[in-house]
Amino acid sequence: MPDLEAYNQLERHVLQAVEDIQSTQSESELDQLRVSLLGKKALVTHLIRSIRHLPSESRPVAGKSAAAAKSRIEQELQTKRVDLRIAARNRRLESEKVDVTLPGRECSRGGPHPLSRTMDRMLEIFSGIGFDIVVGPEIEDDYHNFEALNIPPEHPARAMQDTFYFNDQKLLRTHTSPVQIRYMENNSPPMRVVAPGRVYRCDSDITHSPMFHQLEGLVVDEHTTFADLKGVLEYFVQEFFEVDLNLRFRPSYFPFTEPSAEVDISCVFCEGSGCSVCKKSGWLEVLGCGMVHPALYQNVGIDGERFTGYAFGMGVERFTMLRYGVNDLRLFFRNDLELLRQFQW
Ligand SMILES: [Zn+2]
Repeated sequence: MPDLEAYNQLERHVLQAVEDIQSTQSESELDQLRVSLLGKKALVTHLIRSIRHLPSESRPVAGKSAAAAKSRIEQELQTKRVDLRIAARNRRLESEKVDVTLPGRECSRGGPHPLSRTMDRMLEIFSGIGFDIVVGPEIEDDYHNFEALNIPPEHPARAMQDTFYFNDQKLLRTHTSPVQIRYMENNSPPMRVVAPGRVYRCDSDITHSPMFHQLEGLVVDEHTTFADLKGVLEYFVQEFFEVDLNLRFRPSYFPFTEPSAEVDISCVFCEGSGCSVCKKSGWLEVLGCGMVHPALYQNVGIDGERFTGYAFGMGVERFTMLRYGVNDLRLFFRNDLELLRQFQW
């Protein structure tokens, strides 16, 4: 049985308890400590329960000091609990803190492929002077790709174009010219169209790709002349390169035009004085053109006595290389991001 002395010693017990409470690091540690300080087996609990065994004159003093001890310990526990919670919340906030001075994540920007850019630019220029944009199939038949364009089966011009055939009749179009035929079959003059698209030839080197892009132009109307053709092409070339260039028309041969011409522009790199790109000539060949051959009108049922017209075709890759100074056509098809990023302007 405890005597009054045990109650007088309580103060020391409380001081130790306070010290223990202060040194806890977590709420679970504090819970354990609470059990040992105030639980059923705790000293304070035992002493409170034993008061009734003391002589009656000692009970008030003993009771007072036991109650004070219990109250002090409870208060310390409560204060420490609040402190621990605040500390835990501060730690959490610290770990969740956002450093607003950190640089943002880079957002990479895409852009149209240089060939698409060139094509869009060409179409914009022709649309601006009244040309409609039309398209045709990439898988063509022999008739539209060759025969209707005045290239019969044994014609030597077929050897000029290394064709991808599916069978005797179906092939990958070798040029955009069949769109002329398809358009003339289904429309009546006056007509003024450009036809952009992919074409295919069995050919691959620094200036040839098995797949490349052409832009075809066709105008059919009454009184259309070669002078109109010259005017339109001069306008287009000046607009496209945004510099003053000289044009030179050289007589040439295409089965579907008569007369035919190849068009040179003064070299955009040396302005005509001669460099390695123009092979010292000062001129760059850029397109082919001519007056629509009368045989084509017969094939599509247009009155060739009443109507005249012209056609032209140009390589989109060629114009892109000249405009952006790219010297290897194959670079366009490598999907090399380092190269393509240079065209994002
Ligand atoms: Zn040159």
